[in-house]
Amino acid sequence: MKNILVSLFVGMLIHLSAFAQVDEQRHGNRFEQLGNLLRSPNVYRTASGAPGHQYWQQKADYEIEVELNDENQSIQGKEKVTYYNESPDPLDYLWVQLDQNERDKDSETPKMSSNSIQPKMSLGQLQRILWHDMELGLKIYSVTDSRGNEIPTTVNRTMMRLDLDEPLLPGERFEFHIEWSFSIHDRMSFIGGRPGYEYFEGDGNYLYTMAEWFPRMAVYSDFEGWQNKQFVGRGEFALVFGDYEVSITVPADHMVGATGVLQNPGDVLNAKELERWELAKTTFDAPVIIRTQAEAEKLEKGKSEEKKTWIFHAENVRDFAWTSSRKFIWDAMAVSLGGKEVMAMSYYAKEANPLWEQYSTRVVAHTLKSYSARTFDYPYPVAISVEATNGMEYPMICFNYGRPDTDGTYSEAIKYGMISVIIHEVGHNFFPMIVNSDERQWTWMDEGLNTFMQFLAEQEWEREYPSRRGPAHKIAPYMRSEKHLLEPIMTNSENIIQFGPNAYAKPATALNILRETVMGRELFDYSFKKYAQRWMFKHPTPADLFRTMEDASAVDLDWFWRGWFYGTEPVDIAIQDVTWYKIDSKKPAEVKADEREAYEREENYISRTRNARDIPETVVEKDPEAADFYNRYDRFRVGPEDEKAYQDFLSSLSGEERAMLESGLNFYEVNFENIGGLVMPIILEFQYQDGSSEVERIPAQIWRMDEYQVSKVFAKEKEVVRIVLDPYRETADIDENNNYWPRQFQPSKFELFKQRAPARGTSSGPNPMKKEK
Ligand SMILES: [Zn+2]
Repeated sequence: MKNILVSLFVGMLIHLSAFAQVDEQRHGNRFEQLGNLLRSPNVYRTASGAPGHQYWQQKADYEIEVELNDENQSIQGKEKVTYYNESPDPLDYLWVQLDQNERDKDSETPKMSSNSIQPKMSLGQLQRILWHDMELGLKIYSVTDSRGNEIPTTVNRTMMRLDLDEPLLPGERFEFHIEWSFSIHDRMSFIGGRPGYEYFEGDGNYLYTMAEWFPRMAVYSDFEGWQNKQFVGRGEFALVFGDYEVSITVPADHMVGATGVLQNPGDVLNAKELERWELAKTTFDAPVIIRTQAEAEKLEKGKSEEKKTWIFHAENVRDFAWTSSRKFIWDAMAVSLGGKEVMAMSYYAKEANPLWEQYSTRVVAHTLKSYSARTFDYPYPVAISVEATNGMEYPMICFNYGRPDTDGTYSEAIKYGMISVIIHEVGHNFFPMIVNSDERQWTWMDEGLNTFMQFLAEQEWEREYPSRRGPAHKIAPYMRSEKHLLEPIMTNSENIIQFGPNAYAKPATALNILRETVMGRELFDYSFKKYAQRWMFKHPTPADLFRTMEDASAVDLDWFWRGWFYGTEPVDIAIQDVTWYKIDSKKPAEVKADEREAYEREENYISRTRNARDIPETVVEKDPEAADFYNRYDRFRVGPEDEKAYQDFLSSLSGEERAMLESGLNFYEVNFENIGGLVMPIILEFQYQDGSSEVERIPAQIWRMDEYQVSKVFAKEKEVVRIVLDPYRETADIDENNNYWPRQFQPSKFELFKQRAPARGTSSGPNPMKKEK
């Protein structure tokens, strides 16, 4: 093509913002591969993100007998652990987790947290400063081998080391026994935590949620060795899979729910309950109430002296939790998943009705269906939701929140809060109970993925569901935080300042952005499902997720992981300026008209304007002849020589060049500034003069050569009246004021304050110079 595009007419030029700072390295490493940020692939974990051909993991089977003492709120238990060394390494010692010690009087948790006196302090805040002197830790009575010989142990707070006589060799198993007890704490008190009891003053009964309640094997893995980082409250659990046989002895009038399948319903349920239980197994449309509110209320009034033992069996689970109370109402319904029937159930006290009877079990069933469709069919036989004024997950059972007011009414916030927490906690069955990541190290690997899945399940539960986390723009306030309040998602659970936004909302939002904006739904859904299926019943690491998402989609995502997971920069892309160009047609009439316009603009200055108005007529009339001469001369006249030059130019053009010349195209050169630092795709909506609009999507790689400033030309047949950057709010841009051309400012509001007249006889009110304490 000849140089017709070189001579262009500048139609409009608006400078909207100053240039980005140039002192930073404009071509940084934002698009470089993650390299050694990821662990080297090996025979255990491949470079594709899948388990390697020599992948291994440990296994621990448990047989536990436990008895609940409802008189003094304690439990006493003994367990047999069979530990299988599937690793290629001989083990000199084993580590066992004693989580209850985290709540004991000499716990390090309160010592590790900084605190200060605030103008207003609650009793709970003061109690957390003072801590307590109750004996709440685990009492270990004995640790013995299969022949009854004592095993030497060392307890380091929440971890206990068992020193073996001789190393446990690869492929061998080791059996040992532990006897223990502990006092259950009031989880409604300042000590908090998910497990514990709640006491109901009205009827004098307890509701127990039992978790972190027995000595459990720590994880020994190819990537961490022993995961024996202390439990100090926030970094949750790293646990091995195994089979469980658990006998739970409780007062005879208690109802028990637990991980696993009840083995002896005939011993613990009455005839009516058994009949309803059988009915529930074939009822798919609504929950069947197995113990009714009236029956539970009747039981609340007495206290049985008898005991019953409930026996549960669970296979391939990483933990075991249970709940017990004489207050429980129980309902259940069947859910069909992949040709198998799963029992969705709920346990709740009368205080949770009418909300729980209406929603809980239905939400459990919905969650199983929604998550199964995106990962794998829920593989366990039951899924239980327990009302316990909080939210915490375990295999097959979780403790949730959502209690109406005492008169049975409830707000929308309580209702949606309850549905969301049930979806979330039931959803944890998938991450991390089955896709078994290391929660002690990475909160985000289960909370982030699960919060993302929760968002999808909420939107499937109800159109326009008021989801709190997931949509990109909802993370913007967090991303706007000052630098010192931000850490990368790749930060250990205990070191995170803004825990919820960092470990739940940001990774969930990042995944949603991957799905909607970077990869597209089809590629994302396939890859995410691939990750879930590859690591189902295994131990994945972040690298396995990062690699699988790329490997299964052919989308290079290293820049995305680098920015969103290893960095703290926010997204703030700005339309810096837009220049509108048209091809110079070279038609003499147009050329001269443009020249005239340029001349008039040039000469239209203030003195000339005023002179034309103010100079007395007598001055002008001095020489009317001369004035007339000048007025008749038109320097912008089109002459025959102009026409000839134009015709010569036209005849020199090829057909293609001539078509381009006459296309009438509008060229918009848009300059973008990356103010936030996080590189992202550029999504633009062009709004045209005729009222129509069009969206263009530019991949993030446009920032490869210059990470701070890029320019892009868009050719449009129609005239553009407005350009909107990120029109669907899908990139989490923290400043949307600079997303418009022409620049559009969103009004903020301030309050008009009505000044109160000072009371008679007093001074003029509080001294404005005096600072509040
Ligand atoms: Zn969670």
